[in-house]
Amino acid sequence: MEELVRLCKARGFVFPSAEIYGGFRSTYDYGPLGVLMARNVKDAWWRSMVQMRREVVGLDAAVLSSPRIWEASGHLNNFTDPLVDCRSCKQRWRADQMPTTDDGRLVCPNCASTDITEARPFNLMFKTFAGPVEDEGAVAYLRPETAQGHFVNFANVVQTEHLRPPFGTAQIGKSFRNEITPGNFVFRTREFEQMELEYFVPPAESAEWFEYWCKERFEWYVRLGIPRHMLRLRPHTKEELSHYSAGTADVEFAFPWGWGELEGIANRTDYDLNAHAKASGQPLEYFDQATGERYVPHVIEPAAGVARTMMAFLIAAHDTDEVAGEARTVLRLHPRIAPYQVAVLPLSKKDTLLPMAEEVLGMLQPVAMCDYDVTRAIGRRYRRQDEIGTPLCVTVDFESLEDKAVTVRDRDTTTQERVHLDRLVEVVTGRLAW
Ligand code: ATP
Repeated sequence: MEELVRLCKARGFVFPSAEIYGGFRSTYDYGPLGVLMARNVKDAWWRSMVQMRREVVGLDAAVLSSPRIWEASGHLNNFTDPLVDCRSCKQRWRADQMPTTDDGRLVCPNCASTDITEARPFNLMFKTFAGPVEDEGAVAYLRPETAQGHFVNFANVVQTEHLRPPFGTAQIGKSFRNEITPGNFVFRTREFEQMELEYFVPPAESAEWFEYWCKERFEWYVRLGIPRHMLRLRPHTKEELSHYSAGTADVEFAFPWGWGELEGIANRTDYDLNAHAKASGQPLEYFDQATGERYVPHVIEPAAGVARTMMAFLIAAHDTDEVAGEARTVLRLHPRIAPYQVAVLPLSKKDTLLPMAEEVLGMLQPVAMCDYDVTRAIGRRYRRQDEIGTPLCVTVDFESLEDKAVTVRDRDTTTQERVHLDRLVEVVTGRLAW
């Protein structure tokens, strides 16, 4: 884990936020490679959830919206974690995440005291004011999940898209939770990005679709390179279930500190649509013109986090091996997820090579995210690209000027292939398996 945090900072994936001021309460900023990778994670999700399907459409709802949404959804009353204080060291903790003694008493993770206060509910929503007057009438909340934006737009989407259940709305965006104990790097932060699908189904089909999405979401991580043994699907116990859920299973990843949730798949039933219909007075149901049937669809929700997914990909891809008698660090990231797919490297900084190297860069930029590096010895540049997970390096050397061919080097095997410029785009796109 320390190695990962070090690599993330040194290579520009993730920086502690406000670092020049000593940091700010477990917040992080994404650097040049981090934004590329996070964008790839979101694109891969969008591709599988929207692009490759006929029945799922996109949505992007407001972060700041009517507080009536949160009243109706139950978040104002129920979106709480049990907060306790340690009477010895005065630290605050989430009771459900603390170690316990054999006879079930809570133990302070900081000072090991068992003198802990009774748990009281702590609402995780960030409260603010919309407009210039800070009174009760102006209270607003930053959304703690993107899901409610789907439910309040249900009728709009049905009307504009003429969709018939089963159909889904997909949304990627920031959510905010005033977590009591953020931590484990970007695993738990107060500001984070979610990728959520709300899948509206006929009530009788909800169990079947729940199974479908559990399987489909698990396999998505596998397809993008996480070994099966580092993943598990864990059904929630009755006590763990959220107030709206008839069944939830988490896709968990073997983090260095133990199993941790990447994504929750929940059967939210008709809870949310009914709650908003009741509170708003607007019917939120589906009318099937073919059968004359009117019903409130049930909802299956796969909800994943961008940062946790990114971390899992980084951890699973991190490897060390030996190349020409030297140890190397390599990130064996899936080409779709790696920050750069290609690095274009002129063998030397000499002016004679640069025009051709720039021409090669110009050929590849439309088909792949390319890095361009002219510094240091070629061996050092290969190592850097291995360390940031770039699947292919394209090297322009002095012979290239004569034979109009370049060397394509593979990150995982380090084998090299000579490719004529006429075939370069085809070979590169083929090797990346777009
Ligand atoms: P946890 O039990 O870890 O608090 P949760 O079950 O409350 O998570 P959900 O409400 O199911 O999480 O949110 C869906 C996804 O959003 C999670 O699986 C996770 O990937 C991401 N997520 C939730 N809270 C955070 C957070 N504080 N920081 C980063 N990602 C988060």
